[in-house]
Amino acid sequence: MAETLIHEILPVGLLQCNCMILGDPSSREAVVVDPGDESERILEILRRHQLKVRAIVSTHTHIDHVGGLAALHRATGAPVLIHEDDLELYRHLDVQAQWIGIPTPETMALKDFVAEGDRIRWGPYFAEVLHTPGHTPGSISLVVRRGEEEESGTKGKPVKASPTLIAPPPDRLISGDTLFYRSIGRTDLPGGSTPQILHSIHEKLLTLPESLVVYPGHGETTTIGAEREYNPFVR
Ligand SMILES: [Zn+2]
Ligand SMILES: [Zn+2]
Repeated sequence: MAETLIHEILPVGLLQCNCMILGDPSSREAVVVDPGDESERILEILRRHQLKVRAIVSTHTHIDHVGGLAALHRATGAPVLIHEDDLELYRHLDVQAQWIGIPTPETMALKDFVAEGDRIRWGPYFAEVLHTPGHTPGSISLVVRRGEEEESGTKGKPVKASPTLIAPPPDRLISGDTLFYRSIGRTDLPGGSTPQILHSIHEKLLTLPESLVVYPGHGETTTIGAEREYNPFVR
């Protein structure tokens, strides 16, 4: 029987963003999602599980989801991936820091981008990228699946686009600040759009299987079925 995915959830920083570490217990490969702050604590958990980071991903570039990117990249050497439509927001991290009254975190040059349909791989797992704009222009959600490598010649590359392949069933959804337990992401910040976030949620997230467990960027986990039924913002 396959060992289950290591899935650590650490609320980090002032806004308690759910930073997540997803690790394969066999190959010890991992991805880190939304390292908003407290990179030392993230590195400590990676060391404890003896995980090697294949990629660092931010669901969007609000400060609470990207504050630790540069430090974690420096410590691990792993590529940092965002959707290109959020690059502009990342360039204004100083303004974002002023909004919440914290010092501007260290920044880095971002040059690796993911788009709809891309697959971010670690061990036998991959996260399929869904572009779910609305909270920010470049917000993404990640459908985590476990599947065998279908093609050869992709070794060493954490990301590849393979939209035509049939995907194994979804294992879990990482929804960033797009869909929360009984709520949705705010759209009143620069680049936000209420029609867009509702469209993203209805067309791309609520169409997933109802038993799928959802891990939002803040707060409690939920399921697609429960949000379809009880989320007052999307009914
Ligand atoms: Zn946000
Ligand atoms: Zn957030």
